[in-house]
Amino acid sequence: MLEKCYPDFCVKSVWELDGSFYKENNIKAVIFDIDNTLVIHKEPEPTREVLEYFEFLSSKGIKYGIVSNNKPQRVDSFCKNLGVPYASRAFKPRKKHLRRIASELGVPCENICFVGDQVFTDMLGANRMGFVSVLVMALGENETGFVAFKRIFENIVMNKYHNKRQNQG
Ligand SMILES: [Mg+2]
Repeated sequence: MLEKCYPDFCVKSVWELDGSFYKENNIKAVIFDIDNTLVIHKEPEPTREVLEYFEFLSSKGIKYGIVSNNKPQRVDSFCKNLGVPYASRAFKPRKKHLRRIASELGVPCENICFVGDQVFTDMLGANRMGFVSVLVMALGENETGFVAFKRIFENIVMNKYHNKRQNQG
C-alpha cells in the first residue's frame, strides 16, 4: 500500500524537468497539480515562469493538463486562459478525474507524467493510474528543507530496493 505512494522521480522544482527528461522517459504529456507545485497557494494565476515553462512544453510537442483538489473558483481562475484540459475538486488519489484528463489529452497512461508536491494524493493517484510520478518539493520550502526531503525519499527507495533483493533471496 505504502509502496504505491513512492514517486518514480524526485526533483526540487518543475523547472528541472527538461527536454532530456521527457525524451528519456518517453513522456508525451504532463499533468500538473497547481498548489505548491506550479505556484504558491495564494497566487491566483500562472506566473511568467509557469507560462514560459508551458511554452517550452508546447515547443517540444508535449501536451499538458491540470488536476487539482482545490475548489472550482481557484482552479478556473488559474486555468481559464490556458486552453488545456483541467479538473478541479478532483479528490486525488481517486482516479476518476485523472482518467478523464488523460483521455482528453489522448495519450496512453505510461506516456504521461504527473507532477505534484504531495505523496498521499498526487503520487498515490499517479501511480494508481500507471503514470510516471514526479514529486517536487513544495514551493516555499527552503534549500535545507530540500536536502532533508531528498534524504527521506532516498531512504524510502533504498529500503524498497533492499527489501526487493531480500525477497528475491
Ligand atoms: Mg499541491
